[in-house]
Amino acid sequence: MSKIKMTTPLVEMDGDEMTRILWKMIKKHLLEPYIDLNTEYYDLGLEHRNATNDQVTIDSANATKKYGVAVKCATITPNAARMTEYDLKEMWKSPNGTIRAMLDGTVFRAPIVVKGIDPCVRNWKKPITIARHAYGDVYKNTEMVIPGPGKVELVYTAEDGTETRELVHNYTGSGVAQGMHNLNGSIESFAKSCFNYALDTKQDLWFATKDTISKKYDHTFKDIFQEVYEKEYEEKFKAAGITYFYTLIDDAVARVMKAEGGFIWACKNYDGDVMSDMVSSAFGSLAMMTSVLVSPQGYYEYEAAHGTVQRHYYKHLNGEETSTNSVATIFAWTGALKKRGELDENKALIEFANRLEKATLDTIESGKMTKDLALITTISNPIVLNSEEFIEAIAEQL
Ligand code: NAP
Ligand code: MG
Repeated sequence: MSKIKMTTPLVEMDGDEMTRILWKMIKKHLLEPYIDLNTEYYDLGLEHRNATNDQVTIDSANATKKYGVAVKCATITPNAARMTEYDLKEMWKSPNGTIRAMLDGTVFRAPIVVKGIDPCVRNWKKPITIARHAYGDVYKNTEMVIPGPGKVELVYTAEDGTETRELVHNYTGSGVAQGMHNLNGSIESFAKSCFNYALDTKQDLWFATKDTISKKYDHTFKDIFQEVYEKEYEEKFKAAGITYFYTLIDDAVARVMKAEGGFIWACKNYDGDVMSDMVSSAFGSLAMMTSVLVSPQGYYEYEAAHGTVQRHYYKHLNGEETSTNSVATIFAWTGALKKRGELDENKALIEFANRLEKATLDTIESGKMTKDLALITTISNPIVLNSEEFIEAIAEQL
């Protein structure tokens, strides 16, 4: 059998610990036998980030802008413990943060739905994708403890020095206050990423805030989404047969619980933080969740939603057997290969990626899975495989 050719390179961002081990196995057993892999390789493993003063992360983001599609392995975000463990020159920033800032993107997280791993919510039949705005609000707030009676105001000083004031509260006793902000440019990028992703995946888009209470702040989000929609996307949505709808966040929550899934739920920063944890745990497992960063210009970076699975890696280093779930990392690859295939009109590549996804799900449905899934599956007597056996089982199925 001749291997599938690729015309444009895929940006490959290697990573750390257990996911770096899985990365190699996936390439060896599931990709390289079938595809003439054409990737531009960037080693985002912590040692190499440290050696290059993190330049490699910046280079990999620039390469994503050049080629349009990247696939990323999970990486360590350094903390104090990692400084000593890896003898780091600096506490390098989170690669995901750096890449997200350079691409100005929105992160979409979607569960991988498979028979035998049932969502807690009975009527959820299709994935619910959460799109979380990744800038501002309470994550960039300023807080104050108010010790006693007095006045708190918001003051805007324009460049010419003129001041506008709004009273927050006249305190008669002690309390708390906070100020937060967002930027129209960031909200617009968020909106565009959501509309593009909805068109791309042919799913309806829901957006919700608390605009009835927050008549300026949240209302601005609602207005910007509506303006961007009417100006650039309404016709395209009609042609694609999908809808955009806005509702109040309380109404959205109630509808989500009763829906069957198959849509994108765009959330403000805090809502997205909270709701994505709810949705992902209700669907089963973080190891069954993919994540894609979409820029408003249409650049894509695919990855797994989980981290480097440090605990399993240390076991692996000790020579112990691991049973680490590679599904989300496999789907990061298939997502990226499909997108590359779409952009290059490479049908063989798209078909291969679809077949690999099906083989992965069929393997689980046949009862062969890693330990994390065996603990929650409704399939009786599941066969628990180790990390490499599971990937080999998928290869056999494929
Ligand atoms: P983690 O790697 O997601 O793992 C947390 C726990 O979840 C694991 O110990 C394991 O539980 C379970 N788990 C996660 N993925 C699994 C998989 N594929 N298969 C089986 N079980 C899985 O989070 P962490 O341990 O808190 O973080 C480790 C490193 O990852 C940190 O250095 C962090 O900076 C980094 N991180 C990177 C990203 C990214 O690159 N996108 C995201 C998050 C975290 P059991 O041990 O109970 O089996
Ligand atoms: Mg959270």
